[in-house]
Amino acid sequence: MSQQFASDNISGICPTAMQAMTRANQGHASSYGEDRYTAEVCEQFRALFETDCDVYFVFNGTAANSLALASLCQSYHSIICHQSAHVETDECGAPEFFTHGAKLLQAQGELGKLDPQGIEALVSKRQDIHYPKPKVISLTQATECGTVYSPEELHNIQKVAAKWNLYTHMDGARFANAVASLDLAPADITWRAGVDVLCFGGSKNGLAIGEAVIFFNKQLSEEFAYRCKQAGQLASKMRFMSSQWQGLLHNDVWLHNAQHANAMASRLAQGLATIEQVQLLFPVSANAVFVQIPSAIKQALHNKGWQFYDFIGAGSRLMCSWDTQPETVDRFISDVQQLSH
Ligand SMILES: *Cc1c(COP(=O)(O)O)cnc(C)c1O
Repeated sequence: MSQQFASDNISGICPTAMQAMTRANQGHASSYGEDRYTAEVCEQFRALFETDCDVYFVFNGTAANSLALASLCQSYHSIICHQSAHVETDECGAPEFFTHGAKLLQAQGELGKLDPQGIEALVSKRQDIHYPKPKVISLTQATECGTVYSPEELHNIQKVAAKWNLYTHMDGARFANAVASLDLAPADITWRAGVDVLCFGGSKNGLAIGEAVIFFNKQLSEEFAYRCKQAGQLASKMRFMSSQWQGLLHNDVWLHNAQHANAMASRLAQGLATIEQVQLLFPVSANAVFVQIPSAIKQALHNKGWQFYDFIGAGSRLMCSWDTQPETVDRFISDVQQLSH
């Protein structure tokens, strides 16, 4: 299939991740994460985050988020998230399932982001025994709208979290894109900003499979390995999940992949912004471009073979990947231009 904008998980495997996996395919190695590749990559994560964190590898983002959330709360607790959060809209109830019934409380907020007022309003609304007690804030970085929380925004949320004794979970399916966008150290927008656990997305950044669950608050990771095993998330040939990350972490390939995807999104947005019939719906900070395209033009683009989805409201979502070529972007822009005349 030719390159498309349907999602950032329709791209293939980044060559360095593939090479790292091939390197790990030598002889026998201990199973269930007891191998040297897994140990090495955990050290690489600790170096990247400049702290002694606990690292686990699971198959996908739904597992990462829901198991992480389950380790932050009891069944009678609630989790505050944005109304468009993936944990709320796209995980088939897995967070509720794995927490054994914790309730997701949805907040509104501009540009797909939670804000301190929205969180505070939800937390302070009820404190009686009849309401599930708020325990966790779940943030998505970069957000489902392709926007990014600034360190200031994270610090303001951290203040509310501290005031109400809430843990902070970060859905970082596109964490790399957020780091690339902000041009800051990963630590600055995670544990230094109060994040207890980060689900660091690998699939959308160029892995074949897998996300890393990173506990900065190590008390919360107690017995997390059992959770993973029980949920069917402990790979026996773990080295082939973990080693892929070496291909991303070495030489900051993860960051370059994200910078590239972000640059392609910004090229796409700039091109589309010059077309009168097309409206950008959100500022483009990461690798997503949300646009309103008249339905006749949208249909014509689909007829020409372009694949993309309508998402969040009535807009169309165009996602760029680590391997999106500038030519693909330019061809799309030129097709929209032609159809707009
Ligand atoms: C893609 C994505 C995930 C992970 O989804 P899986 O299909 O379960 O891997 C999680 N959160 C967000 C915001 C995503 O976009």
